Amino acid sequence: MFADSIAGLSRPGKTGEMAVVYDTRDRFLGLGWYDATSPLRVRMLHVGSPVTIDLAWWRQRLETALSIREKRFDPSTTGWRWIHGENDGWPGWVLDRYGPVLVLKLYTAAWLPWLDPLVPLLQERLAPAAIVLRLSRNMAIEAEKQGRRDGTVIAGSLPGDSSPVLFEEHGLLFEADVLRGQKTGFFLDQRENRVRVESLARGRIVLNTFAYTGGFSLYAARGGALIVESLDSNPRALDSARRNFERNRGLRLPRDAGHELIRADAFEWLAAPGASRYDLIVLDPPALAQRAEDRPSALQGYEHLARNAWKRLRPGGILAAASCSAQVGAKDFFQVVQEATREGPRLARVLETTGQPADHPACFPEAAYLKCIYLLKAGTRR
Ligand code: SAH
Repeated sequence: MFADSIAGLSRPGKTGEMAVVYDTRDRFLGLGWYDATSPLRVRMLHVGSPVTIDLAWWRQRLETALSIREKRFDPSTTGWRWIHGENDGWPGWVLDRYGPVLVLKLYTAAWLPWLDPLVPLLQERLAPAAIVLRLSRNMAIEAEKQGRRDGTVIAGSLPGDSSPVLFEEHGLLFEADVLRGQKTGFFLDQRENRVRVESLARGRIVLNTFAYTGGFSLYAARGGALIVESLDSNPRALDSARRNFERNRGLRLPRDAGHELIRADAFEWLAAPGASRYDLIVLDPPALAQRAEDRPSALQGYEHLARNAWKRLRPGGILAAASCSAQVGAKDFFQVVQEATREGPRLARVLETTGQPADHPACFPEAAYLKCIYLLKAGTRR
């Protein structure tokens, strides 16, 4: 519930209190966390008839989330999302698993007073070696007041007492910097797109832009790519991509798999003149639109990237273009990428479009933030 949709309060609320919501005729509507510091003033936990929200209630809600994921992955995958915020009935609460470690990322300070009673539920049910707390930037001040800091171990201890933590995804070994990395340390949401890229990579020269820790790069190499180039502007990300590559080489990746690192701004690098030498390009930029106002410039950004990447593809090449901006809908994104690839003599054929994986469910339209389109640079136009 946004602040401006609240007609009145019986008294000023404090962040972390349970708000009881009534309609204009004083009928009970539901219960939620009150966050005095956010325009998203009440995060609804329950809607309908009155309930008692106690530990038994939370235990059950936890079980529901776990049951969706519990038997989903075979032992070759040990990293996934256990709880995906509001879509699992835990608004602003994200729980990821990396091997023996759980990473809990909070997006509202309203959860802070509830960590003490709720964290033991996670320990009891999932028995992790450690639980790491990550906090979104907007709650730093409130967290400081309550003695909580981003990137701290709040239960148990990390294997080897340090980050990164190792885990497996489809048999590939990755590191995740659970204390300082982006999001919770890895982009678990691209797992299935990485599998697709693996299946498309055989015999191809692959460019993975916005590579971060090399997720798509390793899959492409395992899929039989001739050479993979990982491009990112962050040298720490590239170091991690190199380590991830090396720790799989000879074991899960061909011993002679070629991997090159390019430290550059992807927008500039793709726009600069260069040979059309790639057979597969992955475009996976960070969210270009954080707010609704950013939408037009984000669409321009996506178009710019797709247009320039398309020029770098050889005939028969494939572009995999993704967007994780919740503010940009799939329809608009696909349209803008298709427009960008319409130029030039070659036809762009849509091979497939995809969304987000089942451990990142979307229970309302705006929650479907991830979309990806695969385009083939096909034969010439008549
Ligand atoms: N594809 C990755 C996730 C990408 S996260 C995966 O599957 O894991 C976005 C990445 O883009 C980050 O690593 C960030 O360092 C990088 N980045 C952000 N802006 C960039 C820019 N202008 N040029 C190159 N890389 C950029």
